Amino acid sequence: MQDREKLIFLKIDEARLLVDYFKDINIGIPQEEINALEFLIKEAENFVILGKLTISQNRLESFDQKLRSIEDKYFSELTPRQIDYISRSEQRPKTLDYTREVFEDFEEIKGFEANSPDPAIVCGFAKLHGNEVMVIGHEKGTFGEHFRRGGSALPQGNYKAMRAMKLAEKFGIPVVTFIDTPGSWPLEEFLPAQRIAKNLEMQYLLKVPHVSVVIGEGGSGGALAIDISDYRIMLDKAYYSVISVSGGAAIIARDKRHITEDDMNRAAENLKITAKDAYRLGIVDKIIKEPKIGVRKTDKDFFPIVRDAIVEGFDTVKASVSYFFVSDTKIKNVWKVKNHQIRKLLRNRAKKYKKIGVYHSSISDQLKHLFGELYRLKPIHYLFTPFRKTFDSYIKRRALERGKEDLILKPQEQPKVLAYEDRWVECPNAPIHGCQDIWVPTLFEEYDGTCPHCGYHFRLIIDNYIDILVDPGTFREFNEGIESVNPLGFEGFDEKLVKAKKTSGKKCAMITGYAHIGGHPVVLILTDVRFRAGTLGSAEGEKFWRAIKRAIREKKPVVAVHQSGGARIEEGLLALMQMAKTSIAIAQFKQAGGYYISIQTDPTMAGVLASYASLGDIILAEPNAQIGFAGIHVIEQTVKHKKPKNYQHSEMVMGRGGIDMVVRRHDLKETVVRLLELKKIRGREEQF
Ligand SMILES: [Zn+2]
Repeated sequence: MQDREKLIFLKIDEARLLVDYFKDINIGIPQEEINALEFLIKEAENFVILGKLTISQNRLESFDQKLRSIEDKYFSELTPRQIDYISRSEQRPKTLDYTREVFEDFEEIKGFEANSPDPAIVCGFAKLHGNEVMVIGHEKGTFGEHFRRGGSALPQGNYKAMRAMKLAEKFGIPVVTFIDTPGSWPLEEFLPAQRIAKNLEMQYLLKVPHVSVVIGEGGSGGALAIDISDYRIMLDKAYYSVISVSGGAAIIARDKRHITEDDMNRAAENLKITAKDAYRLGIVDKIIKEPKIGVRKTDKDFFPIVRDAIVEGFDTVKASVSYFFVSDTKIKNVWKVKNHQIRKLLRNRAKKYKKIGVYHSSISDQLKHLFGELYRLKPIHYLFTPFRKTFDSYIKRRALERGKEDLILKPQEQPKVLAYEDRWVECPNAPIHGCQDIWVPTLFEEYDGTCPHCGYHFRLIIDNYIDILVDPGTFREFNEGIESVNPLGFEGFDEKLVKAKKTSGKKCAMITGYAHIGGHPVVLILTDVRFRAGTLGSAEGEKFWRAIKRAIREKKPVVAVHQSGGARIEEGLLALMQMAKTSIAIAQFKQAGGYYISIQTDPTMAGVLASYASLGDIILAEPNAQIGFAGIHVIEQTVKHKKPKNYQHSEMVMGRGGIDMVVRRHDLKETVVRLLELKKIRGREEQF
């Protein structure tokens, strides 16, 4: 075959691949346009077979022209929904393509005593300009590689990634992660949420620089499981989101049974999933511009751009911890962080995630916070503590004298919303055990919200937990001025927020405060399920962070009662990043020697279970509480069969090893007090 002929055939193959790509991404290019392209290819092929090479080449030239017009017409202003389509294309480069094209000498490592080699995650050593790096990423694989589950990692895969990071840490090798997952595999059997939580905590403590690249799908907690990085790069046709677009559409749709393409478009718009949005929200540090129609495996000149961005990322991280840094990849181990720089690396990492979030804070609250921060400085602490103590007792005395006891919440003043609803309630176990109907006030006042016949635990509101756990009159709330807002301008959310604030009487879903439990002073954190299903948003994340900081400062143990539906969808990526923020707070707390008792009640789900709720030194749960990673219908859809009714009940979760104890509400306080007693053994009582 002649060289010229060969070249034409090559071009025809490329053109075919391109048309396949257009069909695959399905962004609304009309069929006529695609037909016209296919026709030109066919003609070019026919003419080359007939030996009329010049005509064939002409056809290919008109193909190119047509292509450019399509590019201009349909790719100039892509909507978030179209980007979502493109990000999932089969022809986009996957992690293994990057490992081959960006690095030298990639050597995959599997196993890691993780019980499964989980091929949805690949790890391995590689060289970047001669420097050793550890590369980890979600791998979707090519057509037919079903065993990779489309990049949905099992908990074992996330564990494997963690072990690889630890190995890198051992040698002081920097870590690069490639994010490309629709989300973690949702099956509860191997505790996906608990694994993600551990990954978040451990990644913060990683003593080497970590650069991540979002190359395709940034699917929620599954993405975050390997993405607590110091420098985040994102391709401009990748997405990053707290929920899939279809999941978001189910929330936004007016008719929940018929989700239309318009709902999908609006959801993608509202969730703010694009690289530009992530950059604006302070979540991404650098955006890489792709070719107009999106990057494909054949775009060989794209990979050096990614390589340069990764190098720039490492340079930036290294420069942020060292005063005299010369960016030169010819220097051996140029990104190695020295021992004395590690503290700064971790501090910067914490700062990066601390900043993320949009909430409202009252002026008095801001002042109090400012003084609190000043108070952390040791000399000020020593100087003012005696004053503060006298002042506190003075205020208390004054309040008592004036009969205004609003500073000291008496138990009878703590609202008991459910208890004052005068009605009967039926126990869900009545058909099985023949329980009698119960008068609601009696149920809550005498039986702590449990059925006196069968012991079924009704869902309580958070104020009831204050009654049950806390010594009467000792709960003092702080940071009550922090308020949830609608940072993304999510459609219809303003009204929902107003309603939530009205029905719950709170400014956000979380309450934090000081309390005594069995005489032990603790920092108490509670979530109110009545406020937007107790979801985790920016305000809650900030409150959690501040509560933990207080606990560190004042050396108090933390007791948290969880009752939450997960991360708040309407705050998009900001909510997702609160998972990182809260987990980092806990990691710092434990590093300082803190003691954290986590109590999971009905329900503890999704993003909350996959972060701070699963990071307790000890984890308690109530009987028959719903505890899980994903909604049961999502799981059933994924595995295509029904799951038992108690699939996500606390007893089952304990059976899988996700919970330490299932404690009856009646015994809850006694158990918590006993656990708090334990800390005395270690010595000085004030030391947590
Ligand atoms: Zn009952």
